[in-house]
Amino acid sequence: GAERTKNVLILMSDTGGGHRASAEAIRDAFRIEFGDEYQIFVKDVWKEYTGWPLNDMERSYKFMVKHVQLWKVAFHSTSPRWIHSVYLAAIAAFYAKEVEAGLMEYKPDIIISVHPLMQHIPLWVLKWQGLQKKVVFVTVITDLNTCHPTWFHPGVNRCYCPSEAVAKRALLDGIEVSQVRVYGLPIRPSFVRAVLQKDQLREELEMDPNLPAVLLMGGGEGMGPVKKTAKALAESLFDKNNEKPIGQLIIICGRNKALASSLEALEWKIPVKVRGFEKQMEKWMGACDCIITKAGPGTIAEALIRGLPIILNDYIPGQEKGNVPYVVDNGAGVFTRSPKETAKIVAGWFSTKPEQLHTMSQNARKLAQPEAVFDIVRDIHDLACQRGPMASIPYMLNSSFTDLI
Ligand code: UDP
Repeated sequence: GAERTKNVLILMSDTGGGHRASAEAIRDAFRIEFGDEYQIFVKDVWKEYTGWPLNDMERSYKFMVKHVQLWKVAFHSTSPRWIHSVYLAAIAAFYAKEVEAGLMEYKPDIIISVHPLMQHIPLWVLKWQGLQKKVVFVTVITDLNTCHPTWFHPGVNRCYCPSEAVAKRALLDGIEVSQVRVYGLPIRPSFVRAVLQKDQLREELEMDPNLPAVLLMGGGEGMGPVKKTAKALAESLFDKNNEKPIGQLIIICGRNKALASSLEALEWKIPVKVRGFEKQMEKWMGACDCIITKAGPGTIAEALIRGLPIILNDYIPGQEKGNVPYVVDNGAGVFTRSPKETAKIVAGWFSTKPEQLHTMSQNARKLAQPEAVFDIVRDIHDLACQRGPMASIPYMLNSSFTDLI
């Protein structure tokens, strides 16, 4: 029959670098696999209001005050918890409005959520519009282990879990086996498909061709004890007896400009490169021999694909905590908060314990799931095909859903 382009709406939020990276990975994989069959819209729900509520307290305060009357009935107290609850409810109402606007604007055949707070409201809006049987709704979880339960919603067509650990949590939380798929964390195809030679990369990136290289970073925002670790490495990777470096250091600061400029001002005894936000992480990872990072899921999954042993030096409490045992228990890396200890481990790997580095690298590759993003989009495509021709999704909202809140 006459095929029309199907619309895919990806709901994300730019908190950290991870959600955006996953959203873009899915978008790019759709393009590679299905070309013009799908039109993809990545919608950043927070960005539209530039960092709301943090950068826009006045407006959000007004918003809350406007809605407080409605919740007063439910919350008969002025305790911090009451305020907290009202705040969350206000956020929910805010989301509903955004999602509804998105639905009307993009007329999605498929909605993909890559955010823990993006299941309830969109599904609620779909139900309200009588569209839940017509629109495919899937969740792609982007935490490797200890994810928040708001990720799990029984009303989804699929819940893509990056690991068995997350799948187990999903099942315990009432998601059916038939809804769960475990393919891995979606990583940008440019990362996965790249054919990279370490020698060539080092030449291109103007690195030392022979010295082993350690990559030091802290997610999209350059978090964690980066500076202290860099200084400790500069000591441990310098062989005082022979007055020669035994390794080189690449520091990627992401969007942390203050960190980059303070590192650039230092003198180093070993070859060091300080970089800001890099667009081609696959190249830097491909040129290095191990990585030091906070426990961000994106960075971890990428490092595993490149076979880089990982030293985790920090994690965001909650969702990133479980990423530590994921790496350590699978023999792909170690965890230490101490910059000195980190520096010692790397020096060991680069001198007397190369076999340890090698084993961890192999374990990392075993854990890697480079095809995950392609498996996910193919599965979504199959789901969409099962729905039959989707030529006539009746997007014709009359009264606004959020007027009723
Ligand atoms: N990243 C990047 N360029 C940089 C720093 C980070 O592209 O200069 C990417 C990195 O490759 C990863 C993401 O940003 O895909 C960071 O995600 P992660 O989950 O590790 O941590 P977050 O920043 O979300 O806390």
